[in-house]
Amino acid sequence: MEILRLRAFTDNYIWSLRHNGLLAVVDPGESGPVLDHLAQSGDRLVAILLTHHHDDHIGGLADLVALEDEKNPITVFGPAANHIPQVNRALQGGETIVLPEFGDEGAFQVIAVPGHTLGHLAYYRPGTLFCGDTLFLLGCGRLFEGSPAQMWQSLSALAALPADTQVYCAHEYTYMNLPFALAVEPGNPQLQARSVKLKEKISLGIATVPDTLGDELVTNVFLRPTQPEVIAAARRYRSETGGDTTLATPTEVFAALREWRNGYKPPTI
Ligand code: ZN
Ligand code: FE
Repeated sequence: MEILRLRAFTDNYIWSLRHNGLLAVVDPGESGPVLDHLAQSGDRLVAILLTHHHDDHIGGLADLVALEDEKNPITVFGPAANHIPQVNRALQGGETIVLPEFGDEGAFQVIAVPGHTLGHLAYYRPGTLFCGDTLFLLGCGRLFEGSPAQMWQSLSALAALPADTQVYCAHEYTYMNLPFALAVEPGNPQLQARSVKLKEKISLGIATVPDTLGDELVTNVFLRPTQPEVIAAARRYRSETGGDTTLATPTEVFAALREWRNGYKPPTI
């Protein structure tokens, strides 16, 4: 089984599982890259996994579902909460789904990760996490629908997965997240070391995604609201902006970091 990276729009990834000429795609925001791949490879699309209802993740659905016929059904997994018309396997989180065409590697745990949207799902199998717009390399999704408490709980659930898990997020946002991470935790030696490697990839135009959860745990500030340097930075931000500096819980530190990130203008790198 291979995991292909199909690029969409300017910075989206449509991660695609490929095995024996069969394909499953995650978050097809547009159909073109998938249709091009199918035409070039002769692969057949058998399943679509959706993490959430935003257009840049589901925009290609109608075109792709139109490829279905009686002999070649396409299973579309997605959040029940959003009533996406093409979804024929609605999920809440907590289920295990099986893509039989992909053998042992076709079973995924569905994890409810509300925050970016309320119905947001992540799909996990040992070694592989498709997490949409919840966890990004060195960042996390904006809170469009959920609360900081929900998002912190969701990120904590992902953080509890094995450290060698490869994080396949849906956007290449690392170049924007890196300056913020360095602003929050300039004294983190692991972040400094990782930033050298990431800057090199970014300057060469090489994809930074996927990378391991273990690397995220030690360098992604949104997974680190219990670290003294991160708490101190969040308090500094709040005092500079005239906000509440108490920040007694990880959720409150996380909320301050997310708020800071929303208004953060990265210096040009
Ligand atoms: Zn989104
Ligand atoms: Fe997105």
